[in-house]
Amino acid sequence: MAKQTVRDLDLTGRKVLVRVDFNVPQAKDGSVADDRRIRSALPTLSAILDRGGSLILVSHLGRPTGDAAADAPFRMDRVAARLAELIGRPVVKADDTVGPHAQAACRALQPGGIVMLENVRFNKGEKKGDPGFAKALAGLADCYVNDAFGTCHRDEASMVAVPEQFPPERRAIGFLVEKELKILDSLLRNPKRPCVAVMGGAKVSDKIGVIENLLARVDRLLVGGAMTYTFLKAQGHSIGQSKVEADKLDVASRLIQLAGDKLVLPQDHLVASKPEAGAETKIVSGPNIPDGWFGMDIGPATIAAYVAIIKQAATVVWNGPMGKFEVEAFSRGTRSIAEALAESPGVTAVGGGESAEAVEKFGLADRVSHVSTGGGAFLESLEGKAFNSLAVIPEEG
Ligand code: ADP
Ligand code: MG
Repeated sequence: MAKQTVRDLDLTGRKVLVRVDFNVPQAKDGSVADDRRIRSALPTLSAILDRGGSLILVSHLGRPTGDAAADAPFRMDRVAARLAELIGRPVVKADDTVGPHAQAACRALQPGGIVMLENVRFNKGEKKGDPGFAKALAGLADCYVNDAFGTCHRDEASMVAVPEQFPPERRAIGFLVEKELKILDSLLRNPKRPCVAVMGGAKVSDKIGVIENLLARVDRLLVGGAMTYTFLKAQGHSIGQSKVEADKLDVASRLIQLAGDKLVLPQDHLVASKPEAGAETKIVSGPNIPDGWFGMDIGPATIAAYVAIIKQAATVVWNGPMGKFEVEAFSRGTRSIAEALAESPGVTAVGGGESAEAVEKFGLADRVSHVSTGGGAFLESLEGKAFNSLAVIPEEG
């Protein structure tokens, strides 16, 4: 069963509180460094306006400390300004979330109008899921829409207690959340086969639950990134100076056992004399990294093998860079995997903070089926977790 969406709501003349995830990356001066999360919400926002509704938008931004001066860069003003540019309509920015400014702006709101509330995490009640705060926020609007996929794994007030304040027929998910859920469903439930997962990134410990859950569903799980060396060490190989989680060797051994021949480890490596730009590099074949060298990327034979497996696949899910891609000299593995996904005619999905960043950086984001806007939410979904924020949205029909 699918969740009720904005399509199912009666919107004419209604004020719609949309929980968006406008927690955008910011430059040092606080400006919007990447507006993908804002652009991703536009289909939902435009649909509501086109159907005679008005918008009250609420989001968090950054990690406010409670100190007004220090938190100034986390005010929503620049996000509101960028949204106004992208949507081509004025956006009224309220200087509080549920206080007199917000109340006045929402009272004055006409069909087609847009109010952006102040950073929801400036309010202590948000993290605590406080019912008083939830009532005040819900009281500004007639309906509630969750289009904040990147926050769906959180139980904060604006995600759970606020929608609970509305009658069920006035709660829905937006098109972004709908799209994210659809692709996850096609990955996890009955994927087209062969189905391949590519896992990399910094730590095995972040991804144990994901690897376990995916092993039960995929045909192959290709490993790269720094987590490789914890697996190799668990198998008794030498890993030189490579990153390793020494306290996770037993976990890695257990995953190897569980996986049988589904788990594929790199057969060669790009190693460096130092883990930074400008270091001496060489290719090492086989599972052992020489003393004094750092494993920084998968090697050319591994790239060729992984690309061949991805080419055969009907479904590919990828999380975690294959190497320290931020340094050009260590980026070839990650770039090659991104290109292989881009060229695949199958369903291809990428998720995770740095993974999404890599695909964007290589200019390939539009050529995969889906780049998730959720880091933590995407990973927890791949672990098979269910979210309270979605449980409060009724099923369709
Ligand atoms: P995601 O955010 O996509 O889930 P992670 O947070 O798990 O990914 O890991 C991303 C980080 O892992 C990247 O910043 C990358 O530099 C780092 N990384 C990947 N491989 C290596 C490696 N071999 N050595 C050092 N760092 C690595
Ligand atoms: Mg990350």
